[in-house]
Amino acid sequence: MPQIAERRSATNVLVIGTGAGGLRAAIELAEQGVEVLCVGKRRRDDPHTVLAAGGINAALGTMDPADSWAQHAADTLREGYWLSDPEAVEQLAQHSPAAIEELVEWGAEFAREDDGRLSQRFFGAHTWRRTCFSGDYTGRAIQHALIRRADQLSVPIRDDLYITRLLVHDNRVFGAYGFDVATGQRQILFADAVVLAAGGYTRIWRRSSSRRDENTGDAMRLAADASARLQDMELVQFHPTGMVHPDSAEGTLVTEAVRGEGGQLRNTDGERFMARYDPERGELSTRDRVALANYTEIAEGRGTEHGGVWLDVSHLDPNTVQTRLPRTYRQFIDLLMLDITREPMEVAPTAHYSMGGVRVDADTHASDVDGLYALGECASGVHGANRLGGNSLGECIVFGRIVGQQAARFSADVDVHVRDRAAIDAARAEVDALLAGNGDDFPRQVQRAVRDLMSRWGGVVRSEDGLNRGLTELADLDTRAAAMSVRPDIAGYDDLVHAFDLRGSLLAARATLQSALKRRETRGAHVRSDHPDLDPNQQHNLLWTPAGITAAPIGTASPEVLALAHTAEDLTSAGRLLE
Ligand SMILES: Cc1cc2nc3c(=O)[nH]c(=O)nc-3n(C[C@H](O)[C@H](O)[C@H](O)COP(=O)(O)OP(=O)(O)OC[C@H]3O[C@@H](n4cnc5c(N)ncnc54)[C@H](O)[C@@H]3O)c2cc1C
Repeated sequence: MPQIAERRSATNVLVIGTGAGGLRAAIELAEQGVEVLCVGKRRRDDPHTVLAAGGINAALGTMDPADSWAQHAADTLREGYWLSDPEAVEQLAQHSPAAIEELVEWGAEFAREDDGRLSQRFFGAHTWRRTCFSGDYTGRAIQHALIRRADQLSVPIRDDLYITRLLVHDNRVFGAYGFDVATGQRQILFADAVVLAAGGYTRIWRRSSSRRDENTGDAMRLAADASARLQDMELVQFHPTGMVHPDSAEGTLVTEAVRGEGGQLRNTDGERFMARYDPERGELSTRDRVALANYTEIAEGRGTEHGGVWLDVSHLDPNTVQTRLPRTYRQFIDLLMLDITREPMEVAPTAHYSMGGVRVDADTHASDVDGLYALGECASGVHGANRLGGNSLGECIVFGRIVGQQAARFSADVDVHVRDRAAIDAARAEVDALLAGNGDDFPRQVQRAVRDLMSRWGGVVRSEDGLNRGLTELADLDTRAAAMSVRPDIAGYDDLVHAFDLRGSLLAARATLQSALKRRETRGAHVRSDHPDLDPNQQHNLLWTPAGITAAPIGTASPEVLALAHTAEDLTSAGRLLE
């Protein structure tokens, strides 16, 4: 392919990511009169955010007036098994009502009661009804509202740019390097500050509720290569029920509403096994327990042909299934030609949410690199060891505004802007080297091997032996990845995209396995078969760099929040929507 000359451009703040987090930050910057450019690697109306279904939390008290921001914070800290940053959690809870208000103002159509109040529904582990929703398309409704607002402010958005590297000089970011995914044209984007909102890393597992090429760990690699630390990479939430076949749909979420409506889980002996794991709540047990139960049944040989367990609603009235679970009904017809009113679904745990990510300051969301901010699913701190459902959309909106303000301030204070040629040369050379590759493997083959490895050794249940084996196998994949074939053609630069996706996945996989080895306890979503109990001495964050892992202490919540968190009773999930 002929090389097209490299382009250079400059802006005050570069935002990487056009999902809810990136767009909200870009809107704030534009409102403050700061020049901003927002870039993404896939269509602006189709980032991962649009998959969010169930809702967004805010203690508005429209349905339950007793709710308060402090109770929201307390629920989040408890559900996070005390690994969340209390300051970040309190910020989230305090600012969420204002976030809903602005989304409404920008045209997000949330469900309302007959008298006009915003409807709020229960999500698992919330004390009160505090989740606003837009049918089961909440993420899409929010994304559309943000795009409309960004358009009103004329925010420039380029959703065809792949960022390969952050440009850093003397621990200060001065832009990013990338290429156009269709033409391959290289881009040097100079900026005073950079906001990273490029999503998580749940696609490094074979079964994942993310689509094929999103959440591949790009943000983790970009940040780590720039010398920012990653935090709590071992903490990844597995949703209990993802599809297991066909291959193309593996991991696609089967909503927990299916169990909420009376869906029964069975193994191949026909046993309703949840009675053994949680006799009181059965299928309505918490997400981590059901995921562990499903995993155990499959691991102990009572799984189905495709490596799942049965989830059955065929005993319910077909009308109920079609009216209460319309999306699930359609999903199985569309993807598998299976009528769930007659036949059971095959499901297994699926990687769903990255609690780990870039280490940021709770207040400002600044990373370790001057001028580099991170937010949304790529940042760590809010969700601890288990995310409270409905908190991630709120996190994107609340911290998007805060990060926008911080980056605006940083940009205004910049007096000297060094454009380090060596850093640019290194970024260019990295792309050149990949394009020169002519080895035996294509990136997708190695990516598949990473996903299989992570599912086998770094999945729902981990052990020292398994994690070490995973790291040994990962070293082989690093070698394979160093000699790949990358062949862009007339159809575009997909191969190069996949090669960089793979680099992100390899780094995220290494950080996850190493951090999982280090956390020798079972806490929230992190289950160690060789350390089955929670260890109060490990109530700390783990900070990862390629050179090693250190533990960092966690702050203290305000007395008001602590009191509520400690007096709360264990909540039953019966009658609550659990997404
Ligand atoms: C099925 C499902 C249901 C969910 N339901 C809910 C829910 O009900 N409530 C809730 O709060 N949360 C929910 N979540 C989680 C929530 O959707 C996400 O955490 C959130 O949307 C993440 O937003 P984000 O802006 O951080 O990242 P994303 O929306 O993932 O956006 C990432 C952006 O970064 C860009 N990008 C990535 N890499 C690069 C690169 N190298 N170069 C350039 N651009 C790049 C992408 O193109 C994209 O624009 C759900 C998730 C799933 C999978």
